[in-house]
Formats: sequence, C-alpha cells, structure tokens
Amino acid sequence: MNKPELEEQRSAVPERDRYDLIIIGGGPAGLTAAVYASLLRMRAFLVTSNVGGQTVEGSKIENYMGYEFISGQELVKKFQDQLLQHNYLDHRITEITSVQSFENHFLVTDKREAQYEASAVIIATGMRRRLLNVPGEERLQRQGVFYQHMEEGALVTGHEVAVVGGGNSALQGASELSRICPKVYVVSIGEWTADLAVREEVESLGNVVALKGYAVEEIWGDRRVSAVKVKCQETGKERYLQVHGVFIEIGWRPFADLVSSLVDLNARGEIQIRPDCSTSCPGIFAAGDVTDAFGKRVIIATGEGAKAALSAHEYLMRREKEGM
Ligand SMILES: Cc1cc2nc3c(=O)[nH]c(=O)nc-3n(C[C@H](O)[C@H](O)[C@H](O)COP(=O)(O)OP(=O)(O)OC[C@H]3O[C@@H](n4cnc5c(N)ncnc54)[C@H](O)[C@@H]3O)c2cc1C
Repeated sequence: MNKPELEEQRSAVPERDRYDLIIIGGGPAGLTAAVYASLLRMRAFLVTSNVGGQTVEGSKIENYMGYEFISGQELVKKFQDQLLQHNYLDHRITEITSVQSFENHFLVTDKREAQYEASAVIIATGMRRRLLNVPGEERLQRQGVFYQHMEEGALVTGHEVAVVGGGNSALQGASELSRICPKVYVVSIGEWTADLAVREEVESLGNVVALKGYAVEEIWGDRRVSAVKVKCQETGKERYLQVHGVFIEIGWRPFADLVSSLVDLNARGEIQIRPDCSTSCPGIFAAGDVTDAFGKRVIIATGEGAKAALSAHEYLMRREKEGM
C-alpha cells in the first residue's frame, strides 16, 4: 500500500526527539539528502516549511537529466514518491525558527516551539524572494501585491499595473502583462539588467512605461492595491501610479539566517562550504542554493544534497569511533 503524501505526515514524530541528523529544507537538495540518509539507514529527520521549494515555481524544466522536459510540480512529485514510497524518513512540515549549537549536539526549534535534537544538521533552506520592505507590501499581499506574474496575471486583466524590477523575470512579466493590461509601468532602481533580446522586446511595446532610476516608497490601498508611490532617485520627485496590481520581481536571496551566527557566510550571504559540503562549524553541513556552490540549478542542488548526506554520515561514524 502506498504511504500517504508528505503533507499528511505532519504529526508523524514525537516532539523533542533525538536524531543523528536533522535535514532542514524540502527542496531538491533537502529531499535528496533525505533519500540518501534513508539509504544509509541513518536515524534522520526532515523538516521543511514546504515540499519542492523553488522547483514548484519553475513551469518547465528542460535541463534535468533523464527528462527532455518535465514540469517543476511533476519533478517534485517524483522526488516525493521516491522518499515516501521507497526511502521513508521521519518528517514534519513546519517552519524552523532557530538552530542552536551545544557542545555535542544541535537543538532545532520550530515555530510551534517543538524542539528536536541531533548530532549533525544539514541546512538546505535554499533561497527566498527579496521583498521591497515598504509600507503596504505585507498588508496587501495577494490583494494586489504579487510575486509571480504567471499565475496572478489573470487577476488584473483590463487594469493598469506596475512591475518592480529590471531583470529577466520582471521584464518577461511586463511583456506578458502588456497583453492583458492597458498600461504596464516598469519601475526599476537602475538600468534594466535583463538579456538584450528581452529588453528590446519590452522597449518595443507601446503600452509599457519605463521608470528607470525610481524606487517604490509605499503601496497604497484600503482592501486592495489602488496606487503606488515612487520616487525619482536623481530629482527626489514623487509620483503616484494609479494601479490595480504591483508585481514584485526583484530577485532571490540565500536563506542562511538560521545559522548565520554559527557558520561562515560569503559577501552574498551564502553559506561557505568545503567540497564535501561541510561548513566552518563541525556537524553543520549545507547543500543547494543556500551555499556558495557554483550554479543554482535543480541538478546541482540534488547532487549537493546527496553529497551532504554522505558527508554527514562519515562525520557521525567518525564521532562514534572516537566515542563522542
Ligand atoms: C521561477 C524559477 C524557475 C526555475 N527554473 C529552473 C530550471 O528550469 N532548471 C533548473 O535547473 N533550475 C531552475 N530553477 C532553480 C531551482 O529551482 C533551484 O536551483 C533549486 O530549487 C534549489 O534547490 P534547493 O533545495 O537548494 O532550494 P529550494 O528549492 O529553495 O528549497 C528550499 C527549501 O527549504 C525550505 N525552508 C526554507 N527555510 C525554512 C525554514 N526556516 N524551516 C523549514 N524549511 C525551510 C523551503 O520551504 C524549501 O522547501 C528555477 C527557479 C525559479 C525560482
């Protein structure tokens, strides 16, 4: 009989239990680390706030070995099935709020204050969207403030909108929205950084207004977005854009906050890892997009996740031999 889906296993483990290894993050890196930990018969536990991470946002993946083309959702489903049906591991869907280091172990706490202990930890927390951090952004999320033009575009058909950002995602979003919206403002703090072909395409669109050198100061609206206040960086002049939606596409940042005081990070905020995925803190390993490993790709994250589990296993065996 098939085991239930990952989401249904929320209460599968007792609170405050001791494991050899805790894996934080259920994207490609964390799910692969979990499968490897299961294959290695480790007493391991996977905790994640969602299953699949950024992969579920990728509508089509054309660069994963074994598939000419696969959607992000399909690939995640396959990873999940491999974990639940063939290489089962204790797990819980929850957000981890802290990782503390003690002499011989780590204490991992979630948002419900449940605590889990382990001798080693793999951080596979990937990347999170960058927020504008301006008044109105949080309050009006999903009420006109969106982070994904693909799915939310339909909600603003026939209305004027603003896209914030100047990279590929922002300009591709502007191009798609220009087909269903009468006017699209593209607000960017500097010059556009998208590929030339994308820039040229957007520049040729008659209903796209480029506001380069402008910063978003505030998002207005009672129950949903009605306007955006932007400010010209050079002149200080403010403008109010009467829009129905704001699509924020200003990139992603590595989410290393949980261990930023325990391990070395580089200038970009990524966890610095050695070739075996170990970090500057003995017992903490890291894998995938949260690290300084070159290449932010599913195939690289999965490989790194496997490596981190093998490495953590070796570390624990060594500790055992030394009688720790
Ligand atoms: C729109 C888009 C399209 C893409 N297209 C492609 C593509 O075509 N091909 C390709 O190879 N790559 C693509 N990528 C990149 C690819 O998705 C990433 O490189 C890959 O997902 C990284 O995997 P990861 O496991 O390191 O991190 P993530 O996928 O970011 O997963 C991180 C996981 O950690 C969990 N987590 C984070 N913080 C906590 C916490 N505090 N507590 C508990 N859990 C936590 C998250 O919930 C998530 O499950 C795309 C990315 C995006 C955004």
